[in-house]
Amino acid sequence: MLLDHNSCYEALVTRDPRFDGVLYVGVTTTGVYCRPVCPARTPHRDHCRFFANAAAAENAGFRPCLRCRPELAPGAALIDSANRIASSAAQRIEAGALNEAGIDELAAEFGVSSRQLRRVVKRELGVTPTELAQTQRLLLAKRLLTDSVLPAIEIAFASGFSSVRQFNALFRERYGLSPTALRRSRNPQTSEESLTIQLGFRPPMAWAMLLKFLADRAIPGVESVEAGRYWRAVKIGQSKGQSAGQSAGQSAGWINVERAESENTLRVEVSLSLARVLPSLLAMIKNLFDLDAHPQLIEARLGRHERLREMVKRQSGLRLPGAFDGFEMAMRAVLGQQISVAAARTIAGRITQAFGEPIETPNPKLNRVSVDAARLAQAGAADLTRFGLTGKRAECLIALARAVAEGEVRLEPGVDVAATIERLKQLPGIGDWTAQYIAMRAMRWPDAFPHSDLGLRKALGETSPKRILEIAESWRPWRAYALIHLWNSLGQMQSNE
Ligand SMILES: [Zn+2]
Repeated sequence: MLLDHNSCYEALVTRDPRFDGVLYVGVTTTGVYCRPVCPARTPHRDHCRFFANAAAAENAGFRPCLRCRPELAPGAALIDSANRIASSAAQRIEAGALNEAGIDELAAEFGVSSRQLRRVVKRELGVTPTELAQTQRLLLAKRLLTDSVLPAIEIAFASGFSSVRQFNALFRERYGLSPTALRRSRNPQTSEESLTIQLGFRPPMAWAMLLKFLADRAIPGVESVEAGRYWRAVKIGQSKGQSAGQSAGQSAGWINVERAESENTLRVEVSLSLARVLPSLLAMIKNLFDLDAHPQLIEARLGRHERLREMVKRQSGLRLPGAFDGFEMAMRAVLGQQISVAAARTIAGRITQAFGEPIETPNPKLNRVSVDAARLAQAGAADLTRFGLTGKRAECLIALARAVAEGEVRLEPGVDVAATIERLKQLPGIGDWTAQYIAMRAMRWPDAFPHSDLGLRKALGETSPKRILEIAESWRPWRAYALIHLWNSLGQMQSNE
């Protein structure tokens, strides 16, 4: 888990961005905890205590630094922990799972008892699920107090507190100051209809490449990439098996995302209408842009392989494009079988215009939210074939929509990947390629590998899928990143089953 004291201190002295979000330092003389990239003077070795996450630092009595702002640090990737349940539960808690439902419901998602969940989270992260949730709420509130003009009452609810009183009390107790004290310390932007949030990542980041990947696949009406900025119409709380309890109801609005010029952050503009679903919204954005990745770790491994060495050097900072919405991504994967990326995009646009709910946004290109699985589950094959897909593909899409709408498969990070792949392959028209592709993007599984892919064969100059699997063995657990590198090397991305 956490490195030894000396290595941690070394990371701190060099302000090594690789360790941003991986370790936090509590300074015993000041009672403050920092990111390793903090610009403040490096504390003396004997005054440092190191923690693997912010919640553990706060639990030990440290307050977040106002300079490096631990709430902006990138998160940990799923692969980081040997324990899938602990790391997935942590991500679900960060996405607000305990704001809307209780620990029993979260534990049930993983098929364990709440006692087991508590024990495994405590063992892996050093804090209980409740402590983790409290720290997440406080850090989100701190970030909104500093960066937005939202009224304190809105901030309390947006961060997941159930009352303003609870928010004020915990904030004072933990941070030793009133929420409004933070407010005066900055000069926030003053937009009336949106708020801007920064999301950190570990450099390098091949932003242009990631944006191009998303632009090539943007569903007309729902997404648009313009002038280095990604736009999306959003509705959260649809009946598509998004597992967070949706008692808060549905929220619709829009986001746009661009890379901040100087810092290692993305700037996310969010319509105020989405403020109440911020924790889940931010988690979805992190998934889409792969913000939790450790590029240097991945590249060190892949760069050892002679077939990849040059590509990794040339495409440093490459991200594995994820998914904002698992069902939408899976739909696209099915539509993309045996046709070009552009053709699949056109068909996805037509289906969305017919089945997606209309929405008004300040961007004239966005007029629909993505298709709800429950809605598509009601369709008949004839409703879909008129958009240009084959009868077989239409049947496949409807079966997929039903499985998602009924909660039979969950297409999101943290699920049991092998079991979900097997379940997907039982649906008519979903083979190994599609299931692996969905695992790679919607479940964000970095070791997913559609080894029968045509582009992959071409890039490697190999015809035998068996041989390709053998070659890829040494790329584990990052085979999906290797695939994106190889696709890029062809100058054409994503081929088909
Ligand atoms: Zn600091």
